[in-house]
Amino acid sequence: MSIAEDMANEPDRGFERGTPNSVLHIDDVHKSFAGLHALSDVDLDVREGETHAIIGPNGAGKSTLLNVCVGRLKPDRGAVVFDGHVLTGKAPHEINQLGVARVFQTPEVFPDLTILENIMLPALSKRDGQFKLNPFKLFSKETAIRDEAEQVAESVGLQSQLTAHASSMSRGDKRRLELAMGLIQHPRLLLLDEPTAGMARHDTNATIDLLKKIKEGGMTKVIIEHDMHVVFSLADRISVLAGGRIIAQGTPEEIKDDPKVKEAYLGEEQV
Ligand code: ADP
Ligand code: MG
Repeated sequence: MSIAEDMANEPDRGFERGTPNSVLHIDDVHKSFAGLHALSDVDLDVREGETHAIIGPNGAGKSTLLNVCVGRLKPDRGAVVFDGHVLTGKAPHEINQLGVARVFQTPEVFPDLTILENIMLPALSKRDGQFKLNPFKLFSKETAIRDEAEQVAESVGLQSQLTAHASSMSRGDKRRLELAMGLIQHPRLLLLDEPTAGMARHDTNATIDLLKKIKEGGMTKVIIEHDMHVVFSLADRISVLAGGRIIAQGTPEEIKDDPKVKEAYLGEEQV
């Protein structure tokens, strides 16, 4: 459905659709947990093709914002609009079908499946509806998906462990597996919550290189990250959350020198 049609269907919802080149528009989002304001007045535009980093001290509301975007949490007020579709009120799988994939802070993989099977699963389940009536088509699709899953596994550095069960993986490897499960979906928008947490520096650098390559492919990404080396290596623009509010927004150069950002991080780490 086009933006115009979607707007025509929902003429009175009353939220802004964002700037013309924004693919994800977060409009005046509030979220409280038992009186704690996890998010207040959050407005954010993510532009088509950019890598947008959301940074901020622990407890700033970063994961909450991501969970609002993917339909895991319903905001108390405000809305999230992706590619002209109002996501607020939609179920996580409906949001996923619109082309939004996510990599969570705590990896969510299937422990009893092998690494290869885990990577194949999002692609198989996406295409299952089209092929379940014809087992021969399903078989040829499965072969194609297996080939692609092997390529994706190689791109995240898991090619030597394809038949290992996910339950035996280290936390860092699980994060790479989750990234692979996101990538095989070819999403228009990939949301990543601290994709390098729990990784050794060598693996972090490999993940930065991989995410740079995806950037060349034009996929829009929102990345929540604590590691400033990762943020400044990847981000086109940065939004800074502190105490549930956006306190600064701009290019990495602008953010680096912003006194409000330095203050928010005081006692945490150096920006
Ligand atoms: P960040 O990802 O920036 O570290 P979070 O979004 O996880 O921060 O948390 C923001 C605030 O909301 C924190 O104070 C956290 O304790 C609180 N919070 C997050 N999720 C819940 C929840 N499900 N129930 C209650 N409080 C929560
Ligand atoms: Mg978090």
